[in-house]
Amino acid sequence: MLPELTDGVLVLDSEMAGDPDHNGVFLLTGSRPALVESGVGLAGERVAEALTALGIGPGDLAAIVVTHVHLDHAGGAGELARRFPSATVMVHPSGAKHLVDPSRLEASARQVHGPLMDTVYGHMTPIPADRIRVLADGDTVDLGERQLTALHTPGHAPHHVAVLDTSDGTLFTGDAAGVRLPEMRTPRPSTPPPSFSAADSRASLDRMAALAPARLVLTHFGVVTEPLPYLADLTDRLGRWCAAAEKAVADGQDAAALEAELLRLFGAEEGLPLENPARFASTGGYSANAAGLHLWATRQLT
Ligand SMILES: [Zn+2]
Repeated sequence: MLPELTDGVLVLDSEMAGDPDHNGVFLLTGSRPALVESGVGLAGERVAEALTALGIGPGDLAAIVVTHVHLDHAGGAGELARRFPSATVMVHPSGAKHLVDPSRLEASARQVHGPLMDTVYGHMTPIPADRIRVLADGDTVDLGERQLTALHTPGHAPHHVAVLDTSDGTLFTGDAAGVRLPEMRTPRPSTPPPSFSAADSRASLDRMAALAPARLVLTHFGVVTEPLPYLADLTDRLGRWCAAAEKAVADGQDAAALEAELLRLFGAEEGLPLENPARFASTGGYSANAAGLHLWATRQLT
Protein backbone atom coordinates (compact mmCIF):
# COMPACT_ATOMS: atom_id res chain seq x y z
CA MET A 1 0.00 0.00 0.00
CA LEU A 2 1.18 3.47 -0.78
CA PRO A 3 1.81 5.87 2.07
CA GLU A 4 -1.16 8.02 3.08
CA LEU A 5 -0.03 11.60 3.57
CA THR A 6 -3.23 12.87 5.07
CA ASP A 7 -6.87 11.77 4.97
CA GLY A 8 -7.42 10.01 1.66
CA VAL A 9 -4.35 11.49 -0.02
CA LEU A 10 -1.76 8.99 -1.19
CA VAL A 11 1.67 9.88 -2.42
CA LEU A 12 2.82 8.22 -5.61
CA ASP A 13 6.53 8.80 -5.48
CA SER A 14 7.73 9.47 -9.00
CA GLU A 15 11.28 8.56 -7.89
CA MET A 16 12.62 11.17 -10.23
CA ALA A 17 16.28 10.48 -11.00
CA GLY A 18 15.96 7.23 -9.07
CA ASP A 19 15.78 9.21 -5.85
CA PRO A 20 12.76 8.71 -3.59
CA ASP A 21 11.05 11.32 -1.43
CA HIS A 22 11.69 14.39 -3.48
CA ASN A 23 9.15 14.65 -6.29
CA GLY A 24 5.60 13.83 -5.30
CA VAL A 25 2.50 12.97 -7.30
CA PHE A 26 -0.56 13.10 -5.05
CA LEU A 27 -3.66 10.96 -5.46
CA LEU A 28 -6.82 12.38 -3.95
CA THR A 29 -8.98 9.32 -3.46
CA GLY A 30 -12.77 9.34 -3.59
CA SER A 31 -15.64 8.85 -6.00
CA ARG A 32 -13.88 11.12 -8.51
CA PRO A 33 -10.20 10.41 -7.93
CA ALA A 34 -7.76 13.06 -9.03
CA LEU A 35 -4.04 13.69 -9.19
CA VAL A 36 -2.29 16.82 -8.09
CA GLU A 37 0.95 16.90 -10.10
CA SER A 38 2.02 14.33 -12.65
CA GLY A 39 5.74 13.86 -12.13
CA VAL A 40 8.30 13.83 -14.92
CA GLY A 41 7.57 12.33 -18.32
CA LEU A 42 9.76 9.35 -17.52
CA ALA A 43 7.57 8.57 -14.49
CA GLY A 44 4.31 8.47 -16.45
CA GLU A 45 4.30 4.71 -16.76
CA ARG A 46 5.30 4.19 -13.13
CA VAL A 47 2.50 6.48 -11.91
CA ALA A 48 -0.03 4.85 -14.24
CA GLU A 49 0.89 1.40 -12.93
CA ALA A 50 0.52 2.59 -9.34
CA LEU A 51 -2.97 3.90 -10.14
CA THR A 52 -3.91 0.63 -11.80
CA ALA A 53 -2.66 -1.32 -8.79
CA LEU A 54 -4.99 0.79 -6.63
CA GLY A 55 -7.93 -0.28 -8.78
CA ILE A 56 -8.24 3.00 -10.67
CA GLY A 57 -9.12 1.95 -14.20
CA PRO A 58 -8.68 3.93 -17.41
CA GLY A 59 -12.12 5.52 -17.12
CA ASP A 60 -11.91 6.31 -13.41
CA LEU A 61 -9.42 9.13 -13.04
CA ALA A 62 -11.37 12.40 -13.12
CA ALA A 63 -8.66 15.05 -13.10
CA ILE A 64 -4.96 15.75 -13.28
CA VAL A 65 -4.19 19.14 -11.77
CA VAL A 66 -0.69 20.48 -12.42
CA THR A 67 0.51 23.40 -10.31
CA HIS A 68 2.70 24.68 -13.15
CA VAL A 69 4.31 23.42 -16.32
CA HIS A 70 7.86 22.80 -15.12
CA LEU A 71 8.86 19.32 -16.22
CA ASP A 72 8.94 17.77 -12.75
CA HIS A 73 5.29 18.76 -12.23
CA ALA A 74 3.66 18.53 -15.65
CA GLY A 75 6.04 16.31 -17.62
CA GLY A 76 3.98 13.15 -17.12
CA ALA A 77 0.54 14.74 -17.62
CA GLY A 78 0.29 13.90 -21.31
CA GLU A 79 1.18 10.24 -20.88
CA LEU A 80 -1.24 9.93 -17.96
CA ALA A 81 -3.99 11.72 -19.91
CA ARG A 82 -3.46 9.25 -22.77
CA ARG A 83 -3.77 6.27 -20.43
CA PHE A 84 -6.71 7.72 -18.47
CA PRO A 85 -8.97 9.17 -21.18
CA SER A 86 -11.67 10.44 -18.80
CA ALA A 87 -9.27 12.72 -16.93
CA THR A 88 -9.40 16.45 -17.49
CA VAL A 89 -6.01 18.14 -17.23
CA MET A 90 -6.17 21.39 -15.26
CA VAL A 91 -3.60 24.14 -15.46
CA HIS A 92 -3.10 27.91 -15.21
CA PRO A 93 -4.35 29.73 -18.34
CA SER A 94 -0.78 30.69 -19.32
CA GLY A 95 0.45 27.10 -19.02
CA ALA A 96 -2.16 25.44 -21.23
CA LYS A 97 -0.47 26.12 -24.58
CA HIS A 98 2.69 24.35 -23.37
CA LEU A 99 0.73 21.20 -22.62
CA VAL A 100 -0.93 21.22 -26.04
CA ASP A 101 2.40 21.78 -27.78
CA PRO A 102 5.32 21.06 -25.45
CA SER A 103 7.99 21.58 -28.13
CA ARG A 104 9.12 25.05 -27.00
CA LEU A 105 9.11 24.03 -23.35
CA GLU A 106 11.14 20.91 -24.11
CA ALA A 107 13.61 22.83 -26.26
CA SER A 108 14.28 25.42 -23.57
CA ALA A 109 14.49 22.70 -20.92
CA ARG A 110 17.02 20.84 -23.05
CA GLN A 111 19.19 23.98 -23.11
CA VAL A 112 19.14 24.02 -19.30
CA HIS A 113 19.28 20.30 -18.54
CA GLY A 114 21.14 18.84 -21.55
CA PRO A 115 21.38 15.05 -21.48
CA LEU A 116 19.38 14.91 -18.23
CA MET A 117 16.34 15.46 -20.45
CA ASP A 118 16.68 11.84 -21.56
CA THR A 119 17.77 10.25 -18.27
CA VAL A 120 15.81 12.23 -15.66
CA TYR A 121 12.95 14.19 -17.26
CA GLY A 122 11.80 12.43 -20.40
CA HIS A 123 9.46 13.34 -23.19
CA MET A 124 6.19 15.26 -22.76
CA THR A 125 3.26 13.77 -24.63
CA PRO A 126 1.09 16.53 -26.17
CA ILE A 127 -2.41 16.86 -24.73
CA PRO A 128 -5.41 17.58 -26.98
CA ALA A 129 -6.78 21.05 -26.20
CA ASP A 130 -10.24 19.65 -25.53
CA ARG A 131 -8.84 17.60 -22.65
CA ILE A 132 -7.59 20.72 -20.87
CA ARG A 133 -9.45 23.02 -18.50
CA VAL A 134 -7.77 26.28 -17.57
CA LEU A 135 -8.10 27.35 -13.96
CA ALA A 136 -8.89 30.99 -13.30
CA ASP A 137 -8.07 32.31 -9.86
CA GLY A 138 -10.75 31.09 -7.45
CA ASP A 139 -12.11 28.42 -9.76
CA THR A 140 -13.45 25.35 -8.03
CA VAL A 141 -13.05 21.71 -9.00
CA ASP A 142 -15.82 19.34 -7.92
CA LEU A 143 -14.48 15.93 -6.93
CA GLY A 144 -17.61 14.72 -5.15
CA GLU A 145 -16.54 14.48 -1.52
CA ARG A 146 -13.84 17.07 -2.12
CA GLN A 147 -13.96 20.57 -3.47
CA LEU A 148 -10.74 22.13 -4.68
CA THR A 149 -10.11 25.84 -5.09
CA ALA A 150 -7.43 27.09 -7.48
CA LEU A 151 -5.27 29.94 -6.24
CA HIS A 152 -3.02 31.82 -8.61
CA THR A 153 0.25 31.99 -6.73
CA PRO A 154 2.94 33.49 -8.99
CA GLY A 155 6.54 34.06 -8.00
CA HIS A 156 8.36 30.77 -8.54
CA ALA A 157 6.78 30.96 -12.00
CA PRO A 158 4.16 33.40 -13.28
CA HIS A 159 1.80 30.57 -14.25
CA HIS A 160 1.67 28.86 -10.86
CA VAL A 161 -1.51 27.55 -9.21
CA ALA A 162 -1.79 26.28 -5.64
CA VAL A 163 -4.72 24.02 -4.83
CA LEU A 164 -6.75 24.22 -1.63
CA ASP A 165 -8.86 21.22 -0.67
CA THR A 166 -11.61 23.08 1.16
CA SER A 167 -12.99 19.86 2.64
CA ASP A 168 -10.08 19.57 5.06
CA GLY A 169 -7.87 22.64 4.62
CA THR A 170 -5.00 20.87 2.85
CA LEU A 171 -3.09 23.27 0.61
CA PHE A 172 -1.07 21.75 -2.23
CA THR A 173 1.63 24.34 -2.77
CA GLY A 174 3.52 23.06 -5.81
CA ASP A 175 6.72 25.11 -5.67
CA ALA A 176 5.12 28.33 -4.36
CA ALA A 177 6.09 27.44 -0.79
CA GLY A 178 9.59 26.30 -1.61
CA VAL A 179 11.20 22.96 -0.92
CA ARG A 180 11.71 20.94 2.24
CA LEU A 181 12.76 17.36 1.80
CA PRO A 182 11.84 15.15 4.76
CA GLU A 183 15.31 15.24 6.29
CA MET A 184 15.75 19.02 5.94
CA ARG A 185 15.59 21.26 9.01
CA THR A 186 14.73 24.46 7.15
CA PRO A 187 12.69 25.44 4.09
CA ARG A 188 14.53 26.38 0.91
CA PRO A 189 13.15 29.05 -1.44
CA SER A 190 12.80 27.97 -5.06
CA THR A 191 13.86 30.83 -7.32
CA PRO A 192 14.68 29.41 -10.76
CA PRO A 193 15.13 31.28 -14.03
CA PRO A 194 13.73 32.72 -16.15
CA SER A 195 10.76 34.36 -14.43
CA PHE A 196 11.26 34.27 -10.66
CA SER A 197 9.67 37.35 -9.05
CA ALA A 198 10.39 38.14 -5.40
CA ALA A 199 7.45 40.53 -5.03
CA ASP A 200 5.02 38.01 -6.50
CA SER A 201 6.51 35.24 -4.41
CA ARG A 202 6.10 37.22 -1.18
CA ALA A 203 2.52 38.12 -2.08
CA SER A 204 1.77 34.45 -2.76
CA LEU A 205 3.32 33.39 0.56
CA ASP A 206 1.22 36.03 2.37
CA ARG A 207 -1.88 34.88 0.55
CA MET A 208 -1.32 31.25 1.45
CA ALA A 209 -0.68 32.14 5.10
CA ALA A 210 -3.86 34.24 5.21
CA LEU A 211 -5.85 31.13 4.29
CA ALA A 212 -4.67 29.55 7.56
CA PRO A 213 -4.45 26.13 5.91
CA ALA A 214 -4.56 23.06 8.13
CA ARG A 215 -1.46 21.67 6.45
CA LEU A 216 0.69 22.15 3.39
CA VAL A 217 1.62 19.46 0.91
CA LEU A 218 4.88 20.34 -0.82
CA THR A 219 5.60 18.65 -4.12
CA HIS A 220 9.22 18.53 -2.89
CA PHE A 221 8.29 16.85 -0.53
CA GLY A 222 5.40 15.92 1.70
CA VAL A 223 3.34 17.34 4.53
CA VAL A 224 4.07 20.43 6.59
CA THR A 225 1.98 20.14 9.73
CA GLU A 226 2.70 23.66 11.03
CA PRO A 227 2.03 25.83 7.99
CA LEU A 228 2.24 29.29 9.52
CA PRO A 229 5.67 28.98 11.19
CA TYR A 230 6.92 27.27 8.02
CA LEU A 231 5.64 30.04 5.74
CA ALA A 232 6.97 32.75 8.06
CA ASP A 233 10.41 31.10 8.10
CA LEU A 234 10.39 30.75 4.32
CA THR A 235 9.35 34.40 3.85
CA ASP A 236 12.19 35.50 6.12
CA ARG A 237 14.71 33.35 4.26
CA LEU A 238 13.50 34.58 0.90
CA GLY A 239 14.12 38.16 2.06
CA ARG A 240 17.68 37.25 3.05
CA TRP A 241 18.26 35.40 -0.23
CA CYS A 242 17.10 38.47 -2.15
CA ALA A 243 19.32 40.77 -0.10
CA ALA A 244 22.30 38.51 -0.84
CA ALA A 245 21.44 38.58 -4.54
CA GLU A 246 21.10 42.37 -4.68
CA LYS A 247 24.44 42.74 -2.91
CA ALA A 248 26.10 40.27 -5.28
CA VAL A 249 24.82 42.09 -8.35
CA ALA A 250 25.71 45.51 -6.91
CA ASP A 251 29.23 44.18 -6.26
CA GLY A 252 29.53 42.90 -9.82
CA GLN A 253 29.54 39.23 -8.83
CA ASP A 254 28.19 36.53 -11.11
CA ALA A 255 25.63 33.79 -10.41
CA ALA A 256 28.32 31.28 -9.45
CA ALA A 257 29.59 33.63 -6.74
CA LEU A 258 26.03 34.13 -5.52
CA GLU A 259 25.54 30.36 -5.40
CA ALA A 260 28.64 29.99 -3.24
CA GLU A 261 27.43 32.76 -0.93
CA LEU A 262 23.93 31.22 -0.58
CA LEU A 263 25.49 27.86 0.18
CA ARG A 264 27.72 29.44 2.81
CA LEU A 265 24.84 31.33 4.41
CA PHE A 266 22.10 28.72 4.19
CA GLY A 267 23.32 25.40 2.83
CA ALA A 268 24.76 23.79 5.94
CA GLU A 269 21.89 24.67 8.25
CA GLU A 270 19.41 22.86 6.01
CA GLY A 271 20.85 19.64 7.37
CA LEU A 272 21.19 17.91 4.01
CA PRO A 273 24.50 16.19 3.40
CA LEU A 274 26.57 18.60 1.36
CA GLU A 275 28.81 15.64 0.57
CA ASN A 276 25.88 13.92 -1.17
CA PRO A 277 25.45 16.34 -4.06
CA ALA A 278 22.84 14.25 -5.83
CA ARG A 279 20.49 14.54 -2.88
CA PHE A 280 21.49 18.07 -2.02
CA ALA A 281 20.83 19.32 -5.55
CA SER A 282 18.09 16.85 -6.42
CA THR A 283 15.47 19.48 -7.07
CA GLY A 284 15.38 23.20 -6.56
CA GLY A 285 19.17 23.09 -6.32
CA TYR A 286 21.33 26.08 -5.49
CA SER A 287 22.74 26.42 -8.98
CA ALA A 288 19.34 27.03 -10.60
CA ASN A 289 18.18 29.11 -7.63
CA ALA A 290 21.24 31.35 -7.82
CA ALA A 291 20.78 31.77 -11.58
CA GLY A 292 17.14 32.80 -11.19
CA LEU A 293 17.81 35.06 -8.26
CA HIS A 294 20.77 36.72 -10.01
CA LEU A 295 18.60 37.40 -13.04
CA TRP A 296 15.89 38.88 -10.80
CA ALA A 297 18.36 41.10 -8.93
CA THR A 298 19.91 42.28 -12.19
CA ARG A 299 16.45 43.33 -13.41
CA GLN A 300 15.88 45.19 -10.13
CA LEU A 301 19.07 47.17 -10.37
CA THR A 302 19.04 48.07 -14.06
ZN1 LIG B 1 8.91 24.57 -10.63
